[in-house]
Amino acid sequence: MEKISRRDILALGAVGGAALATGARAASFGNPDEPAEGAINANPAGLSDPGPKNEVLYDQFPSRVSPPPTDVGGMPQFWSSFNTASKRIQDGGWARQVTQDDFAISDAVSGVNMRLGPGGIREMHWHLAAEWAIMTNGRCRVTVLDPKGRAYVQDVGEGDLWYFSAGYPHSLQGLGPDGCEFVIVFDEGKQSEYNTLLLTDWIAHTPPDILALNFGVPADTFKSIPLHDLWIFQGKEPGPLSADQDAVASAGLPPEPFTFRLGQSTPIKSNRSGTLRLADSSIFTVSKTIAAALETIAPGAVREMHWHPNAAEWQYWIKGEGRMTVFDAGPRAQTADFKSGDIGYVKRGQGHVIQNTGTTELQFLAVFKIAEYQEIGLSSWLTHTPAPMVAQHLNIDPSVLGKFPSNQPGILPE
Ligand code: MN
Ligand code: MN
Repeated sequence: MEKISRRDILALGAVGGAALATGARAASFGNPDEPAEGAINANPAGLSDPGPKNEVLYDQFPSRVSPPPTDVGGMPQFWSSFNTASKRIQDGGWARQVTQDDFAISDAVSGVNMRLGPGGIREMHWHLAAEWAIMTNGRCRVTVLDPKGRAYVQDVGEGDLWYFSAGYPHSLQGLGPDGCEFVIVFDEGKQSEYNTLLLTDWIAHTPPDILALNFGVPADTFKSIPLHDLWIFQGKEPGPLSADQDAVASAGLPPEPFTFRLGQSTPIKSNRSGTLRLADSSIFTVSKTIAAALETIAPGAVREMHWHPNAAEWQYWIKGEGRMTVFDAGPRAQTADFKSGDIGYVKRGQGHVIQNTGTTELQFLAVFKIAEYQEIGLSSWLTHTPAPMVAQHLNIDPSVLGKFPSNQPGILPE
C-alpha cells in the first residue's frame, strides 16, 4: 500500500491537528506550503532565537527574522547596502561602492556612492564601462568629451542624471555652497571606481621626452606633476558655467546631451499613492545601455506586482522604508526590508512587489542595463486574457476580473 501523504489526508477531509502535533497547520490561503514554513506553523519552543545576535541588525530586518508564511525556499541574497560599504575618504570627498565582488547577484551593474565637497574634484579619468548617475544632493559640474572632440560641460542638481558612454573621458567637481552627493551605476557588475584610467597615472608613467613630443612643449613643463594619482582631491571652485562651456566649444556641442533632469520630468504614472518617472533611451537618448525609473510610494501603498522581461532591476533606496517580496520559479519567494542607502536586486523576469512600510514617503530608484524600459503588470495580464481562462485558474467568478485594474496604474490604491 502506498504511503498516505499529509496532502492526501487533508484532501480526504481529515482534521489535521492531531496528525501534526508540533503546531503546523494545514496548508491554507496565506499559508500555502508543505512542508509548512513561517512562524505561524512553528512550535514556540523551536521558534525562539536565543543564540548570539546583533540586536541592532536583528531589529532592522523583521522580514528576514520572521518571514511571512507565503515566503518559500531559498534565494540568493538580493539585499545589500552602501551603509555597510567602506568609505575611501580623501581630501575633497569620499566614495564607497558595491560591485559584484560585494554583491554576487548583481552581475549586470555595480554601484558607487560619492560625495564631493565644494571644489572637490573626482580626477579626470575614463573606464571600460559606461557610467550613469543620479544626483541626490547639492550641485556638481560635469565635463565629458566625445570621440569627435565635442566637449560637454554642465551643472547638475538633485534629481538630475548623467550618462557617459564607455571610454568617454570625464571629470566631476562639487560646487558651492555644499558640494554634492550622487550615486553612479556602471553597466558592468565588476566595474570598480578604484579601477579607472587616471590622467595623472598616465602622465607620470610616460617618459618625459615622449611627453615633450606629444604636447609640443619642453619636457620640464611637467617637472612638477604629481607622482601618485589624485583620484579625489580638493580643488578650487570653478567660475561661471557659461565661461567653462565657451572655453571648450570649438568643435561644437555633442548631438545628444549627456545630462537629463529626471526629477523635473513629467511622471509617466501619477496618482494619490505615488509617482513613477522614467528615463530610458527614448527620452534620455544618450543613455543607450541604462534605463531608470524614479519611484515614490505613499505610506501603506504598494508598487504593483510586476516583472521586467528584458532586464534585471538594480535598486537604490533613497528615502523612507519598505519591504519587497521577490518571486521565482520553484516556487521560491522571499521578502526583505529596505531603508535609505540600501540596494536591492531583482533578476530579469522575477516577479516583485514593494510596499511602503514606513510613515513617510518612500523613494527608490530602479536601474536596468537596457536601452528600453519594459514592464509587465500582473493585473494587466489578468485583465487582458479571456476571463474564463483566468477565472478557471484562480477559482473565482469571471465577473470579479472586471474590478482588477486594467490600466497598469503602477502604484496602488489608485
Ligand atoms: Mn567615471
Ligand atoms: Mn520593478
